[in-house]
Amino acid sequence: MALSRRNFLRKAATGGAAAAAAACTAVTAAPEANALQRPPKPMPPDAVGLLYDSTLCIGCKACMTACKESNGLPKEINADAQPWNEGTWDSPVELSAKTFNIIKCFTDGAASEKDREKDGFAFIKRQCMHCADPSCVSVCPVSAMTKNATTGIVNYNPDACIGCRYCVLSCPFGVPKYDYDDPFGKIGKCELCSHRLAESKLPACADVCPTGATLFGRSEDLRKEAHRRVALKAGERTEHPRGDIGGTVGGQRPGHEATVHAVYQPHIYGETELGGTQCLAVSAVPFDKLNLPTNVPEYGYPTLSEGIQHTLYAGMVGPAAVFAGLAWLAHRNAKDHPEE
Ligand code: SF4
Ligand code: SF4
Ligand code: SF4
Repeated sequence: MALSRRNFLRKAATGGAAAAAAACTAVTAAPEANALQRPPKPMPPDAVGLLYDSTLCIGCKACMTACKESNGLPKEINADAQPWNEGTWDSPVELSAKTFNIIKCFTDGAASEKDREKDGFAFIKRQCMHCADPSCVSVCPVSAMTKNATTGIVNYNPDACIGCRYCVLSCPFGVPKYDYDDPFGKIGKCELCSHRLAESKLPACADVCPTGATLFGRSEDLRKEAHRRVALKAGERTEHPRGDIGGTVGGQRPGHEATVHAVYQPHIYGETELGGTQCLAVSAVPFDKLNLPTNVPEYGYPTLSEGIQHTLYAGMVGPAAVFAGLAWLAHRNAKDHPEE
């Protein structure tokens, strides 16, 4: 039977698809999928981050203003929200290349009581989570996204960026945003105010937060503080640290004394999600209501994607097998039809 160019390509594609399908089957057929995963990357021991406590947040948005000021970002009114919400609490409504930090509000029914799921409302702060094993770093082909080996902060280098937007697509939290207004098309996202930390200043959002709802510190210290909070009982009087939990950046500040008015969810968001994140959140309202992704695995996606790549490309056996298959098909075609 003549092997036309079309048939040749079809067979070659079928072979490639079979190889890809085998890899996909291995990945999706948990728990065998774990065989292809590489080990998760641990958080650096001195990783730093933020702890956001929704029950302490009063929605003042001082953190948003300070974030814009410290990062030289302009005021932003979403195009589809003009002019009705210009200057209102809701504007802007999403993270963008010019808004690295946003406070959003969940409401239900009459929204008459704070931190209540039914007929209540609650705030949530969104910014880069500084993942322990970040997808954005894994997919960036030119290492414009990097994770600091000491602090764990995920930084962005606009000079290295080629604007491919892989990081935008890969982030499970929808954080990096592409700036379509910039002729060079750069990415915008929170870098945990690395420029301020370099001057021994607190990240701006934690610096200005009046209640300690946004708290900076070593991730491990923040994790312990988060556990302390979720164990608190409604009606208990307690003092919440403000600024830097360790007091090493910006010094010790007087705490914020408050009565626990709502029972915390028994989970710390970011402790396990996607392999853990250096920014954590606690809340009295379920995290899915606050629009945080909750149906996510406890491993970072790079453990799978890099595991598969490294398995397929180990010793170049996979590509060599594909090449050998193609060469065999070409050879057979040439032998069967020497005149073509
Ligand atoms: S500054 Fe603090 S209290 Fe005010 S909105 Fe931001 S996190 Fe909430
Ligand atoms: S939240 Fe997104 S942008 Fe931030 S480190 Fe994780 S993957 Fe990267
Ligand atoms: S750490 Fe800095 S850049 Fe990140 S949200 Fe806070 S103020 Fe904005």
